[in-house]
Amino acid sequence: EQLLLKVNSINVDYEAANGAVHAVNNISFSLRRGEILGLAGESGCGKSTLAYAIARLLRPPAMITSGEVLYYPSAEHDNDYQTVRKSSLSKVQNGHAIEDGIDILKLSPAQLRAFRWNELSIVFQSAMNALNPVLSIGTQITDVLKTHCPEMSQDARTQRAKELLHLVGIAPDRLRSYPHELSGGMRQRAIIAIALALKPELIIMDEPTTALDVVVQREILQLISELCKEFNTSLIFITHDLSLLLELADTIAIMYAGNIIEHTTSSELYRNPRHPYSYGLLNSFPTLHGPRRKMSGIPGTPPDLRKPPTGCTFNPRCPLAFGPCTAHVPQLIPLPSRAEGQEVACHLYDRRFRPEGPPTAAEVMARYE
Ligand code: SF4
Ligand code: MG
Repeated sequence: EQLLLKVNSINVDYEAANGAVHAVNNISFSLRRGEILGLAGESGCGKSTLAYAIARLLRPPAMITSGEVLYYPSAEHDNDYQTVRKSSLSKVQNGHAIEDGIDILKLSPAQLRAFRWNELSIVFQSAMNALNPVLSIGTQITDVLKTHCPEMSQDARTQRAKELLHLVGIAPDRLRSYPHELSGGMRQRAIIAIALALKPELIIMDEPTTALDVVVQREILQLISELCKEFNTSLIFITHDLSLLLELADTIAIMYAGNIIEHTTSSELYRNPRHPYSYGLLNSFPTLHGPRRKMSGIPGTPPDLRKPPTGCTFNPRCPLAFGPCTAHVPQLIPLPSRAEGQEVACHLYDRRFRPEGPPTAAEVMARYE
């Protein structure tokens, strides 16, 4: 499958009075076209910071100190958008060949504007309040089209707005409704319609549904995943709720204290978690999929990033910590002989430190009890 994004060793610091705090620590991962990647972890683990770094949305005191975010746009695109896409892409590319990837971190402000909306849409955490209360839903959609596809006629824009509402399951006569006339779930759907308006290749969503009740959240997530599959759009979905991701995402990256500690497919993570922290996260909620042993959750709290523990940052909380854990920083490495490319950062999987091989699931579970 085609590559859309390749993040290479990205680092983000927060400048503080008594030195820099490493919020994102040397993270690398790839995203394929049409892939839904879930970024999970407790609050403060750096998942939003990572996503905002990729989108170049960080503001001081947060700063990207090094790394690359290579973007590989598809050559062909939908007909109605061909003109606007061509002009935005040529601005973004600025002479670069698509095959080499375009480093988002090196785009000029003008190139970045072209890149956002046309190639990338972002739905923020406070999405529920993202709609303008004094404009109708229809106007808010057609305004986006007007700004970015000026050659489109007003009739075509209205028609397109109706289609977008239909796509997200809102009756087209709601075009004239104002945000306060819609339920929370409908407002969320309208926001998704706006995010899709220009058919971006990549959408980033940061906890977009947390304000909604669980049933509505599931409906919205179902809708998002269907639309991404239909348009072959890639999605990075950020949440602290791993149970949501298991149903929605193709792949999941779990973050802890600024690092990705496990990255694999949803099904592999559910059936065969590897990192002790992943076990803890997976089992600290009641599952919908049949009987699983419920653990009491992960003891302790995430570390203070101003003075992180030495070695593995999870070691003070890890029920399986052993000798090397305080001395050596584990790297995210592919597990040998795993077809799906499961990666884990834990010394238990390192034969140099544990010649007998990793513990079984039952052994890990037993340590958590
Ligand atoms: Fe636990 Fe050590 Fe693995 Fe870290 S490296 S998760 S402390 S066993
Ligand atoms: Mg956040």
